[in-house]
Amino acid sequence: MNDLFLLPEERTALLRRLSEKRAAPHGDMLSLLSQPTPPEALQRVWAETAPTEGQPLILYVHVPFCISRCAFCGFYAHRTDDAALEAYTRRLLREIEREAGRGAFTEKPVDVVYFGGGTPTALSADQLRRVIGAIYRHFNVAPDVEFTVEGRIHGFDDERVRACLESGATRFSFGVQSFQTALRRSLGRRDSREEILARLETIKAICGDKVALVADLIYGLPGQTQEQWLEENVKTVHASALDGVDLYSLKVFPGLPLAKRMETEGWSEEERAARHAAACDWLAAQGWRQLSCTHWGRNALERNRYNHWAKTGADIVPFGCGAGGFVGDRSFMQTGDLAAWGRMVDADEKPLASALLKPANHRLRARLADQLERGVFDPDDFPGADLSPLLENWERAGVWVSLPDGGYRLTRLGEYYETKLAALLTGCLLSGMGGR
Ligand code: SF4
Repeated sequence: MNDLFLLPEERTALLRRLSEKRAAPHGDMLSLLSQPTPPEALQRVWAETAPTEGQPLILYVHVPFCISRCAFCGFYAHRTDDAALEAYTRRLLREIEREAGRGAFTEKPVDVVYFGGGTPTALSADQLRRVIGAIYRHFNVAPDVEFTVEGRIHGFDDERVRACLESGATRFSFGVQSFQTALRRSLGRRDSREEILARLETIKAICGDKVALVADLIYGLPGQTQEQWLEENVKTVHASALDGVDLYSLKVFPGLPLAKRMETEGWSEEERAARHAAACDWLAAQGWRQLSCTHWGRNALERNRYNHWAKTGADIVPFGCGAGGFVGDRSFMQTGDLAAWGRMVDADEKPLASALLKPANHRLRARLADQLERGVFDPDDFPGADLSPLLENWERAGVWVSLPDGGYRLTRLGEYYETKLAALLTGCLLSGMGGR
């Protein structure tokens, strides 16, 4: 029995173990068991790629440009520039048209479009209309599609909002991160709390109930007190025009200046887990619906389809420089090198950098993610692995509670550690060894 799968029964030791990087040593076991596709086979493999029966279809469109770099971001790629954005838009349209011309994904209804980045809202109103319009023109977009445009509130003016709305976007996802003005500015965000709230009201007034407004908030930021997290952020969400919110614990990539501040000003794991619980309990008490371990919706406008389906096995067709995708048994990564991406698009190639063939039982992780995202785990859905010692141990440790009709429900502590629990369970199930 591998004790790396064992979570200590005692609560303090459990927290210590889960907060270690090694807590989930087999977290990427799926990657370890995956086979890289030889570079010379990438174009042929893509040419043979077709929709997976029974899975939702997602189109993911990436825009790797931002007006500036935020202090906590490990994804920043390129600074916005009018000429570069126009050149990028033209090539993106060419990539979309070429894929549509192949025809493999043009008949099946598209359930979700996610326009992410970077910040797609960095594009002009005209560019947004052209890209969104191309998706609708070339693909069979379902009438109830969830079509998200991700971005910053700063610079997302009325013209851009109308361009998205009139072209068919149904959801705007903003990286607000915090409503605390001084904290925002120390992180490289430009607008004040008052400006964001006023802008959200205006966008809501323009879009009405045609578009869901959602935002990400981060807790555990250096300089943020635990009281401020609840009083100035979570409670502000409820008072704002937002329809949905994602609550994230701050993760800082090593090497960023913020990582240094985290050493002295960061929150402990126990504090973060407690703040996750406080925020969730507060939102639940106001009538918000919990849509995943981290995501909440105020009303039926917010469906959270992309976040859920992207983790649970949907086909994701990638477009754009640095976009990732997943179709059938393979994950795909498009080149993040802007010049190389441009050359490949100009040469009418799918601009892939790599692809991985997943092991035969890879869908097990999607099934597991589907359950944990909903805050439950039913071992009966995973026959063949004896998990009983693990299940009991984790219940004693406070990660979940058993349900009268079988299975388990994650506690707030389990929700906070969902990613690591998923990695641990995936490791146990894929290795077929059970655990404790
Ligand atoms: S806008 Fe988003 S992607 Fe761009 S630097 Fe800030 S956090 Fe990173």
